[in-house]
Amino acid sequence: MILISDNQLDVIHLIVNKWGQHQSITRACEELNELSVDLLKLLRKNSFADYDKQIDKIKDEMADVRIALEHLEIKFGNYQKEFDMKIERLKVRGD
Ligand SMILES: [Mg+2]
Repeated sequence: MILISDNQLDVIHLIVNKWGQHQSITRACEELNELSVDLLKLLRKNSFADYDKQIDKIKDEMADVRIALEHLEIKFGNYQKEFDMKIERLKVRGD
């Protein structure tokens, strides 16, 4: 699991506080779509070299998505309760 330091969170807060909700939602949608595209591209990579490059691109987009999720949490509030419920359901149902 990656860790987000207090300093990194400060940077995210500084930026997101300058943004309106519309801009944060737009950015989140863009980043989620970019990750989706790169994940799908991984499925058609034929060589290991291409595969490794694609994994690097996916990690880059995962970082963008993680930042976007932090933005959304700042805008919409903490989602710990929802997260905990999902994990409990995973433990029970396994899906
Ligand atoms: Mg991106």
